Amino acid sequence: MAGREPEQGWAFERAAELLVSSRYIIGMTGAGVSVESGIPPFRGPGGLWTKHGEPPMDGYQRFLADPKGYWEQRLKSPGEIVQALAQAQPNPGHYAMTALEQMGLLRYLITQNIDNLHRAAGHQRLAEIHGNAQLLRCIGCGTRFQKADMPISLEALPPHCPECSGLIKADTVHFGEPIPPDVLDICFRETRQADCMLIAGTSAVVYPAASFPQMIKEQSGCLIEVNLYDTPLTPLADCSLKGPFGEILPALVERVRMQLTA
Ligand SMILES: [Zn+2]
Repeated sequence: MAGREPEQGWAFERAAELLVSSRYIIGMTGAGVSVESGIPPFRGPGGLWTKHGEPPMDGYQRFLADPKGYWEQRLKSPGEIVQALAQAQPNPGHYAMTALEQMGLLRYLITQNIDNLHRAAGHQRLAEIHGNAQLLRCIGCGTRFQKADMPISLEALPPHCPECSGLIKADTVHFGEPIPPDVLDICFRETRQADCMLIAGTSAVVYPAASFPQMIKEQSGCLIEVNLYDTPLTPLADCSLKGPFGEILPALVERVRMQLTA
């Protein structure tokens, strides 16, 4: 960060100013923030889907058509993504995000990541729009369960919800599956009242993530972007910080603390 900060000094100062002066800040993160934690992206060179093939576009419909087969396959071949997720640890960027929450500045964090790293870093107010790989979810009543609390055996498939006896699947949102309405409601509720959004590691081009920065701008709020590269959001951003999440976020939090104590 020592190398990066001087050349972007003005941008850091401006981003910190925006954070300190905003009334209600929310955050949004995507795959880019997890790469530094050792989680390969899905697409692109070295991506999990590039290597192993894209998951079926009708994954959710396949689950509904054959829930027993879905679970048999998951139990027999957990796959590389599960291993990568099990080994991953939060990076300094995740902890810096948590620090912003603990300082009372960041009110809510929307993440597209399923890797549990924000939770592992202690983040509390979190909307995981694509679910969480550590959790299971009942598609009937929406109750979520820790995997450890619901052992699943090959002999009793598919698992059913103890609350409503609905079908249980992974909490992660499959292709063809609607974003769980409880999570989507939270995202829209939080975005509606926000006047600042800190966006890291995502170009937010896919719905629903794409809607939130758009809403912030329509509400005359400000966008702060943290990314390695320019993205389709960059022209909309009031401030853009370029570099690795794990370096930029801690440096930004440091600036915020300096401004708060100045
Ligand atoms: Zn249920």
